[in-house]
Amino acid sequence: MAASAGKETPRELDDFEIGRELGSGHFSRVKLATRKSDGLKCAIKIMKKPAPGKKVQFDTEVEIMRRIDHPTIVKLYDVFETEDKVYLVMELLTGGELFDRIVDVGHFSEKDAVEMTHKLVSAVMYMHEQGVVHRDLKPENMLMTDESKEAAVKITDFGLSKITDGHSALMKTPCGTPGYIAPEVLHMKGYGREVDMWSIGVIVYILLCGFPPFYAENDALLFQQIKAGKYEFLRPYWDPVSDQAKDFVAKLLVVDPKRRMTAEIALAHPWLASAAEHAVSTH
Ligand code: ADP
Ligand code: MG
Repeated sequence: MAASAGKETPRELDDFEIGRELGSGHFSRVKLATRKSDGLKCAIKIMKKPAPGKKVQFDTEVEIMRRIDHPTIVKLYDVFETEDKVYLVMELLTGGELFDRIVDVGHFSEKDAVEMTHKLVSAVMYMHEQGVVHRDLKPENMLMTDESKEAAVKITDFGLSKITDGHSALMKTPCGTPGYIAPEVLHMKGYGREVDMWSIGVIVYILLCGFPPFYAENDALLFQQIKAGKYEFLRPYWDPVSDQAKDFVAKLLVVDPKRRMTAEIALAHPWLASAAEHAVSTH
C-alpha cells in the first residue's frame, strides 16, 4: 500500500468544514463539521480501517445505521471512505454524553428517569424488531440533543452491534464494557438481544441513584458479582425511590436471560406505563 494513502481524504469531504473534536472512543474520533453547500451542522466519525484480512466491523455499523430510523437513535446522513479510513456523517448532538449529565446532576428525579427510560426502551424495542442487538449500551453511548434541561437522549455507537436473524441467533464473542456486561456474556454460553435489557437495567439503576449496581476494585471481582446478580438497593440512597421503580430494575437485573424482561414487556411494566401517560398529558 502506498505510504501516502493515509493522508488521502475523500473528495466528498471538500464540501465540509471540519471543526473541533467532539469526542473519541476506542476506535474513532468524532469531529464537528459544517456542510458548505447548505450550512448543515453535523458530526463526522472518522474510523481507521483494520488491516486487510481483519474483521470489518464498521461495515456492520454502517449497515445497521442505514436501516435504522428512530427519533431516539442518532441518524446517519452519509458515508465516505478512503483506502484506510471511513467517515460517517451523522446528526449532530451538542448536549454531551448522558454519562456527564448524570455526573453533573448526581442522579435524576424519578420523573426524569422514567421519561428517559421510556424513550430508551422504546428505541431498544424498535432495534430488536429490526434484528439489531446493540451490545454496548451505556451512558457514554447515549448523547443529549442539546445542553438544555429538556434535552432528549439518543442512542449512538453501533460499533459493537450485531444483526441477528430471528430469536434463535446466539452470539458468542464477548464484548461490551465492564459494569454493563450481562452475566450470560461472561459465561460465554452464547447470548442474544437480552444483553441490551440487562444494560438498560444497569443504566436505570444509575439514573435513579447516581452510582452503579455492580462495583468492585478489579474486573475479576466485578464479574463475580455480575454472574451472581449480586446487587442491592443501598440505603439511604434508594429510600426515596418508588417500589415500582425498584421492581422495574429488579426485573431487568435477572441473571437468567429467559426470565429477564424483554423491551416489550418492560414497556408494559407499570413504572413505564405511567410514563407513557405522562408524556401524553405534558407534551
Ligand atoms: P467509538 O465507537 O469509538 O466509541 P462513538 O460513536 O461512541 O465512538 O463516539 C465517540 C464519542 O464521540 C462519543 O462518546 C461522543 O462523545 C462523541 N460523539 C459521537 N457521535 C456524536 C454525535 N453525533 N454528535 C456529537 N458527539 C458525538
Ligand atoms: Mg463509544
